[in-house]
Amino acid sequence: MTEQQQENRDAFNEEAIAKICELGFDFHGPHDENLVFSENADQHTPVRFVGIRIEDFPSIEESLLREGEAPKSLESRYGCTTRNGMFEMEVGAPGRPALIFDRVLRPISLDSKSECSNHLTGFSMGGPSGEGSMRRIHVTNSDRSICVELSDASPFGSLFSRGLLGPPRTVTRNVVTLKVCVPGLSFHSEIEKIGISIADAFLYELAVRNGVTFLPRYRRLGPPVKRPQYRMDAPLRFPVTKIEPEIAHLFQSAISDFTNHLTSFLYYYQILEFYFPYAVRKTAIRRVRAELNDPMFTNQDSELLKIVNIAESTARSSELDQISTLIEEWVRSEKLSEYFAQPELGKHFASSGPIKGVGEINHRSEKSGSLASQVSNRIYKLRNRIVHAKDDPKYADTKVLLSSSREAQFMGPDVDLAKLLAQEVILTAQMQA
Ligand SMILES: [Zn+2]
Repeated sequence: MTEQQQENRDAFNEEAIAKICELGFDFHGPHDENLVFSENADQHTPVRFVGIRIEDFPSIEESLLREGEAPKSLESRYGCTTRNGMFEMEVGAPGRPALIFDRVLRPISLDSKSECSNHLTGFSMGGPSGEGSMRRIHVTNSDRSICVELSDASPFGSLFSRGLLGPPRTVTRNVVTLKVCVPGLSFHSEIEKIGISIADAFLYELAVRNGVTFLPRYRRLGPPVKRPQYRMDAPLRFPVTKIEPEIAHLFQSAISDFTNHLTSFLYYYQILEFYFPYAVRKTAIRRVRAELNDPMFTNQDSELLKIVNIAESTARSSELDQISTLIEEWVRSEKLSEYFAQPELGKHFASSGPIKGVGEINHRSEKSGSLASQVSNRIYKLRNRIVHAKDDPKYADTKVLLSSSREAQFMGPDVDLAKLLAQEVILTAQMQA
C-alpha cells in the first residue's frame, strides 16, 4: 500500500461504511478519489458500481451514524429520500447532461430568488464541494418553504444513482440529480410521494417551457428482457411476402426496441387496427352475399331486413367486436393453439399471471369463449390498460400500465402473442387482396 492509499484509508470512518453496507451495498474500497460501492445485485441484475468522493464522505458520516437517519432508496427510480425532508432523484439527458447544463441551462434566468430558509437551518443540498464550483439551479415556491434544485449529485445521490457497469470506477461528478426539499416531513413514503410530484412537474415545465429534456432514471423491476432468439432453420430466400409500406414501418418500429414491451405491443396493435374496418366490411359482404345467394331468398321485407341488419351491426360494431372479427377470421386457430401450448409460457396467461386485469386465457377449455375470443379480449384489455383515458367508464376497473412498472417488464409473452397476430393478419391481408 502506498502512502497515498494509506492516507485515503484513514480518511473514512469504517463504522459509516458498515452502515452503508447495511443499506444493501457492497464496499469495494477506495479507488482513485472515490469510495466505491455496488448495490447488492440479484441473480438477474448486473453489478453496477457507484462512488462517493472521499473528500465528501465526512459530510455524510454523521447522519449515517445517527440512529434512524439512514437514507432510503426510491421505489422505482434511482435516488433516495432522507429523513430531513429531502428527495433526490437521478436525471439523465439524451446526450450529455453536463453539456446541457452548462450550455443551455446556466444562461437561463431564474424567476425566484435562490436563497431559501431551508438552507439557513443547516440543511445542505447538493454536493458539499463548494457551491461556486457546482452546476446548480435552485428555485423555491412562493413562501420559500419548498425548494427544487437541479445540480450535481450529493454524496447520497451518488450512492443511490444508477452507477456504471464494472470494472469498479466511478464518474460521480457526472451524476446530475433533481432534489426537492420539503422540510418538516419525516416519513420516507411521504417525502417520496411529494418529491416525485414536484420533480415530475419541474421536468415537465423544463421540457415545455425551455425545450430541455431531462428524464428520471427508472430502475428495472423484473428480470431482464430476453433478446429475441435467432433462428437458423429457415433458409434465406427472395421475399414472397407483399407488405404495405405503412405496415412495414409499424412492424419495424415494433421490433426496433425489444426491451420496450409497451411500445412494441402498441405498434403490433396498430397493425391489427389498420385492418379492423377492412376485415369487418369483408365479413359483412360475405354474410350479405350468403343471404343473397340463398336459394330461399325472396324480395320480401323480412328477407331484406336481414341484410339491413347486417349493415347496421357492421356500422355499430365496437372496437372489441372489430378485433374479435379480425382474430376469429384472419388468424389461423391452430397457430393460436400452437402458441399457447408452449410449456415455457408457464402460468403467464393464467389468472395468477403477472399482468393483472386483462383476463386469463385457458387454451384447454373454451368455457370462457373460443380461444380467439379469449385472445381478443385480453389484447383489447391490455391495450386499454396502456392507452388509458381519465374518467372513462371503459377503464374504470383497470389501472394504467406504465413502461416503468414491474408488470411491463413481464409483458414479453403478450408482446409475442401480439406479434403472432400481426403476422397472421399481414398474411391473410395478402390473400384477400
Ligand atoms: Zn433551497
